[in-house]
Amino acid sequence: MATIFSRIVSGEIPSYKVAEDERFYAFLDINPLAKGHTLVIPKVEVDYLFDLDPETLAGLTLFAQRVAKAIERVVPCKRIGVAVLGLEVPHAHIHLVPLNKESDIDF
Ligand code: 5GP
Repeated sequence: MATIFSRIVSGEIPSYKVAEDERFYAFLDINPLAKGHTLVIPKVEVDYLFDLDPETLAGLTLFAQRVAKAIERVVPCKRIGVAVLGLEVPHAHIHLVPLNKESDIDF
């Protein structure tokens, strides 16, 4: 059974796509902590981020960096918060959350 995120990548579940290449996909979080809250995922179905093979993990990190820089250009913010939670969806992902203050998120 495909994960929710794989169903998003395939288009079965709609999403607001932020960026995509052959191996990775970025889309807006359905329940954002701040405007522009984006999830960055590998297309390969792996639950735990650190179970990705090192080359894919490195590629995902570089892809997330490019996405974060793009978000910074369109969402006014001080910086982008980066988080790996994995409490809910068993498909490796990185949260990118635009922050307006050093210690606060803009709900
Ligand atoms: P985590 O697993 O890191 O704790 O959280 C998973 C994140 O995925 C949550 O922030 C949640 O809002 C988001 N999410 C869960 N299901 C969907 C969905 O169907 N579409 C989108 N765009 N985001 C989702």
